[in-house]
Formats: sequence, structure tokens, C-alpha cells
Amino acid sequence: MKTVAEIIEQNAFSHSDLVALLAAEGNDRQLIYNKAAEVKAKYIGNKVYLRGLVEYSNKCRKNCYYCGIRLGNAKVNRYTVDDDEVVQAAKYIKQLGYGSMVLQSGELMTPSFVDAIERLLLRIHAETENTLGITLSMGEQTEETYSRWFNAGAKRYLLRIESSTKELYYKLHPDDDTHSYDIRLQALHTLRKVGYQVGSGVMIGLPFQTLDHLANDLLFLQNLDVDMVGMGPYIEHSDTPLYQYRHLLPSVEKRLELSLKMVAILRIMMKDINIAATTALQTLRADAREQAVVVGANIIMPNLTPQSFREQYFLYQNKTVVKDDAFAYHEQLEQAINAIGCEIGYNAHGDSRHYAERNMNN
Ligand code: SAH
Ligand code: SF4
Repeated sequence: MKTVAEIIEQNAFSHSDLVALLAAEGNDRQLIYNKAAEVKAKYIGNKVYLRGLVEYSNKCRKNCYYCGIRLGNAKVNRYTVDDDEVVQAAKYIKQLGYGSMVLQSGELMTPSFVDAIERLLLRIHAETENTLGITLSMGEQTEETYSRWFNAGAKRYLLRIESSTKELYYKLHPDDDTHSYDIRLQALHTLRKVGYQVGSGVMIGLPFQTLDHLANDLLFLQNLDVDMVGMGPYIEHSDTPLYQYRHLLPSVEKRLELSLKMVAILRIMMKDINIAATTALQTLRADAREQAVVVGANIIMPNLTPQSFREQYFLYQNKTVVKDDAFAYHEQLEQAINAIGCEIGYNAHGDSRHYAERNMNN
């Protein structure tokens, strides 16, 4: 049997190699973290890029079994942030020097929603002198919609596959046309075709999930040749169907450890992509985001949703809701980033190097 020390020096990884890495404990686990940090230092450096996140709307047409803002959750007060408030947030993001913003929302496909996002993108660019990189995370849309939003100035898109194993995917979603695995996968290909920097990812530590599934996910992200990844722990929400399986969940410590291992292993596999240290990590432990940066992540998405809406965007329970003033929060974040030997990449888009390389080679 190969040792972990041998596997991490390979250039390619089989499914069984990845399962062995995911199962590593103690000193072996530390070897993986050290290797990931070494790869990151060589290919990415110590800059952390920030994307100001605006949770634009919690209205959603879908019923994902894990998500607190699913259509079927009648307890949610539904909102959409006013354009003026989004533009104000965008200006503040620019002022903080973040260089990029992310607009995220539930999945809506109505013509009025599609028009509204297009108009909003044009307005944000006009009112921030075309300086911000804009990422969208608004679920599955038609090719026409993706193209219109791209032409209006969104250049990156995040669409997690959630789980790349079909069988597990359908334990997390109803088996119907609105939640089709094949359509979600197709949407990822469409985003690439339209020209976006494409991001995907999965949830980690789900009920029914095994190391086999997580190894599949790592290979899936590599085969799809993604430019960016956002993946983090699954966190239960009591008003969702998946909550009934909470007794099957790994402990919080285990979910954190698996999430950090996934980030580290992916960094070793995909050396020049952007990898986010997610908010869900921070919800499970205050310093987990910084730990993810130490073992390979290079992106953080501070929440800049207007305060009055934050408690309405609960994808999962106990989500960290920062009540501090955004500037005080920013100062704390900068200190935390500096304390681990990294620096914020100010006033830059921090685009995926992987995307740039692929387009140069084409
Ligand atoms: N509606 C869009 C974007 C918003 S949801 C979409 O689904 O693509 C963004 C992400 O939140 C989802 O991709 C999912 O991975 C994550 N999420 C939802 N519920 C979660 C939970 N209970 N725990 C952890 N992450 C969750
Ligand atoms: Fe809607 Fe996204 Fe939540 Fe699914 S994960 S219910 S699509 S917001």
C-alpha cells in the first residue's frame, strides 16, 4: 500500500489515492496540509482576495432538501434588496478596496427577474466606474440569460453541483425536472461556453455521504476543469426535510476536518484555481476560515448584505450574522489575515489564474 507521503508527491490521483488522503489522520493529515501550503505558496502566493457578498433575494423556486430558504419553508419572510441599496453596497465594497463583489440569491427564472439583474449589473458598473469584478450565484438559467448577464458585465459564476454522485444528489433534491442533476451539470457547461470563469463546489459532511462520494467530487471538479471552487460543511436547518437525518451527521469537528482536507487536497490537485474559505466554515468554528486559507484557500467573501436582510437569508442554522459595523469587521478580518502571514489583495479583481492560463493556451 502507498503511504500518504508518497501519494501527495504524485502528479495525478486515482479514486483510491483520494480516499486514502481523505482518511488520513495525525501526522499524515499534517503532511497533506503542509504540501497544500507549499503548492499554494508556489502557484498562488500569500494574497487573499476579498469579494463583498450581497445576498440579493431569498425568493426561490426550488425545494432543495437541505436549504433553509427553500420554496416550501413558509416561515421565511421573503425579500429582494432594492437596487439603490445594492448599488450603495457596491460603492462601499469599492471604497473598502475589495475589487470584487458577489451577488447571490435564490433561483428565479421569471423574465422580470432576468431583466432586473441585467439592469442592476449595468447600473453597478456605471456607478463604480467599471472597477469591480462581479460574480453571480443565481442558480440554473438558460443560455440566453447567462449570455445577457455576461454581456451586462458579470464575468464569474458560482454554481455548486452540491454532490457529483447522482445517487447522493437525489437524496438531497426531489427527483423532478426542477431539480434535475443533468440540467445542473449542463448549466455548468453552458456557463463555460458563454465565457464565464466557472466556479462549482459541494457540501461536505452530509448525511449519507462517504469518503467515496467526496473522492468523486474532487475528481469531478478536476475533470470539469473549474476556475474557482467554493465548498464547505453542510449545516443542518430544522425547517428542512434533511433535518430528520441529523443523527447520521458527522460531528462538527469531523465536518470541519473533512472540509479542510477537501480544500487542501484540491489545492494539491488544482494548483492555480481560486478556492474560497466559506462562511459555513466560520459558522462551525470562529477561526476555521483562516485555517482554510493556511491549507490552500485564497478567497474570502465578507458579507455586505444590508443589515436588515441578513437574518432572512438563513440557508442553514446559526449562520454567523455579523452585527458589527462593516468597517470594524473589515479591520478584524485584515488582522486575522495578517496574523497567518497573508495579505489582502487590494483593488484587484483577483481573477482565477487557471482561467487566464486556459484562455492563453486556446
Ligand atoms: N440558489 C443558488 C445560490 C444560493 S444557495 C444555488 O442554489 O445555486 C448557495 C449555496 O448554499 C448552495 O449551492 C448550497 O451549497 C449552500 N447551502 C444551502 N443550504 C446549505 C446548508 N444547509 N448547509 C451548507 N450549505 C448550504
Ligand atoms: Fe434555492 Fe439555492 Fe436554496 Fe436550492 S440551495 S433552495 S436553489 S437557494
